Amino acid sequence: MKLEDVFRPKPTADSAREGASQSCAQVHFAIKFFRGLPGVNSSLALSMQLANGKMLQIAIRTSPRARRLRLVSGIAGVEAVVPIDFSAQALSDFVTSKRSWLLKTSRYYDRLRERCGGHEPGTIYYLGNRYRIKMVKDRQPAATVSDALKIITFHVDDLRKSKHQQQEWYRHQTARIIGERLPALASSLGLRYNKVSIKNQKSRWGSCSRKGNLNFNLLLAAAPIEVVDYVIIHELMHLIELDHSRRFWELVRNADPDYKLHREWLSSYAPIIRIE
Ligand SMILES: [Zn+2]
Repeated sequence: MKLEDVFRPKPTADSAREGASQSCAQVHFAIKFFRGLPGVNSSLALSMQLANGKMLQIAIRTSPRARRLRLVSGIAGVEAVVPIDFSAQALSDFVTSKRSWLLKTSRYYDRLRERCGGHEPGTIYYLGNRYRIKMVKDRQPAATVSDALKIITFHVDDLRKSKHQQQEWYRHQTARIIGERLPALASSLGLRYNKVSIKNQKSRWGSCSRKGNLNFNLLLAAAPIEVVDYVIIHELMHLIELDHSRRFWELVRNADPDYKLHREWLSSYAPIIRIE
């Protein structure tokens, strides 16, 4: 699974693949166009009220390359990518037809924002939560995690080695988590793998070789456990289907019905999961 996999085909709702709109009396829905949403390139945005009462703003970006309407969701919000000659009515109908997806995705990111917020220097992620880093000079290298204070204290004999210490800590945590989750998931899916390695990889979360050897990125411990499970499931399913075929994604969906949300987490957080 390349990091690119996560970056490029962004989590979207597509007008060609999804079904037509259905009326739903329980969902209170209002849509209006207005100009000048701060921080959005396009001067157009629309707002709608979700079933949970929240007002969701959707930025509208016109694209000369877009041939159909598309909604893209991420930690920064929801964006509608529309062809140049889009009609407001078609966009309104499309967004209306996607309201259950919009509710699901906006809830997911609301929870993520509550838990993680944005990127802040001097912090790292561990199991989906953000922790402040404290470096303490000590003869014996060690690390302690305070869940109550959300602080990870690294004891280092040489402060210049703090980056290396964090990397080794991640490697240890990821190896421990993979060591627990991988055998459990493989046996529940009835799959057998060969060797497992935890690697310092810039461009992949994980990979699976033709020999059935699995590699995982040492930073995986930064992700929530359900996202780690998704990466494991993704690589395990490559034991059956080596490429990203339609059948491959069906296998992934069967094992992890929320896999799209978990991919979204990776695409949103990949840029800020790093060791400083
Ligand atoms: Zn893959």
